[in-house]
Amino acid sequence: MADTTAAWEPVPRSRTFELVLARVEEQILAGNLRVGDRLPPERELVEMLGVSRAAVREALRVLEAQGVLRSRVGTGPESGTVIAAMPDAGLTQLLRLHIALANFPMDDVVEARATLERASARLAAGLVAGGGLDRIREPLLRMDDPALPREQFNDFDTEFHVAIAEAGGNRLMADMTVAVRNAVRHTLLTVFNRLEDDWERVAARLRAEHHAIYEAIAAGDVDAAGDLVEAHVRGFHQDIVKTVLGDSGSAGA
Ligand SMILES: [Zn+2]
Repeated sequence: MADTTAAWEPVPRSRTFELVLARVEEQILAGNLRVGDRLPPERELVEMLGVSRAAVREALRVLEAQGVLRSRVGTGPESGTVIAAMPDAGLTQLLRLHIALANFPMDDVVEARATLERASARLAAGLVAGGGLDRIREPLLRMDDPALPREQFNDFDTEFHVAIAEAGGNRLMADMTVAVRNAVRHTLLTVFNRLEDDWERVAARLRAEHHAIYEAIAAGDVDAAGDLVEAHVRGFHQDIVKTVLGDSGSAGA
């Protein structure tokens, strides 16, 4: 006998816009639409796809919000809706929201951070001649201030890790590091605030680890830089986060 408790829900008409989104995505993935290309005018899309004008507009709004499309006003050849190069901010914002909303288990987030940041630190250490050291040193030195409030310590800690990822020169890796690190920002701040009298001891440990990571990168020691960052990420979660929050901590907390 079928389960009669599950009611049949009408399919919302507005979902048509998702099918329009899928069509545009298909064209992009197939390489038919590239950065700078103009999208067919709204009227043509309505005709080609056999959907309502409202559905097309809704889909275009979503793509614009995602940073995939950009509207150019005017009537010249440059006007209309064009495919935009995805700005970094758009990607990191989406990733951060999804990571926060998905409520991934903390262990998964730690594993992703350890893997990403190990790779980024190795890249950064191999590229010290290319610059980026100043941007890593700046937050490092700011964290040395013993009077720094915990919230700001957390912000500079994030900045330090992001600067390393960016110094590595791999933009995708840097964007993913930013997204994952920002997604755990709240959790880490909660932990910092609950440490009470233990804070100074923990801050001293984090400072020492950050300095060692910086020295390895500045010295161009690829292996040490990777090992130290990985140990820093894993050690902090194992010894500090799990002690404070227990095993149930999740990334979105
Ligand atoms: Zn750190």
